[in-house]
Amino acid sequence: MAIVRVNRHDGIGMTSERTRLRMVDRLREKGIKDVDVLTAMSLVPRHVFVSEALSIRAYEDTALPIGFGQTISHPYSVARMLEVLRNGQDLQRVLEVGCGCGYQAVVLSKLAREVYSIERIASLLGQARRTVRSLRIANVKVQHGDGHLGIPDIAPFDGIILAAAGVEAPPALLAQLAVGGRLVMPRGVGESQQMVLIERQADAYHEQVLEMVHFVPLLPGVA
Ligand code: SAH
Repeated sequence: MAIVRVNRHDGIGMTSERTRLRMVDRLREKGIKDVDVLTAMSLVPRHVFVSEALSIRAYEDTALPIGFGQTISHPYSVARMLEVLRNGQDLQRVLEVGCGCGYQAVVLSKLAREVYSIERIASLLGQARRTVRSLRIANVKVQHGDGHLGIPDIAPFDGIILAAAGVEAPPALLAQLAVGGRLVMPRGVGESQQMVLIERQADAYHEQVLEMVHFVPLLPGVA
């Protein structure tokens, strides 16, 4: 009897490109319309961002544990937030708060010229950095820190996306948004969270409240 060795990076079975394309089909069926977002998600192997034991579930539309009490976001949440952030336009400089395992940052790398991603948990950031390197992604820079503060030295950003739910948009992030830029975040606590889009106009911030969402909380400080 032949022995078949299954390697998580081989792309067979539940981690194959075909499985990934089926995930993208489901995103389309659930209402994601931005072709560039769908293409970006078809290019990024989600299974390499989770542990080997969970990699067979990587293309289900579910959040999966990545350690330290955190999760990799649902594919649908990632697609929807990126669709809202992009609004059909190419992005230049984007800030992500809540890098986690780095999945969304790598999807963003296909949609933006430069991606900066902050994570408060140092060990998670180390893993994310290794994964980003192993995929040879050159336009993603990950940083350890408290995302509430943003990155003043790199600002302004034409897009800011939060992968963790805050009670309010952090003031420093609003200040680091370029005029004409868009910030997307889950806002609220516990089960009661809504996706919010804030656009910076010349003399005001314009806010739109979108659908209900469920994310881990935005926490203060670093760990
Ligand atoms: N972007 C990830 C989602 C990770 S979950 C993905 O692609 O799946 C959200 C992450 O936000 C967690 O790793 C959590 O540690 C981080 N986080 C929470 N509060 C933060 C803060 N103030 N600054 C930076 N990261 C934060």
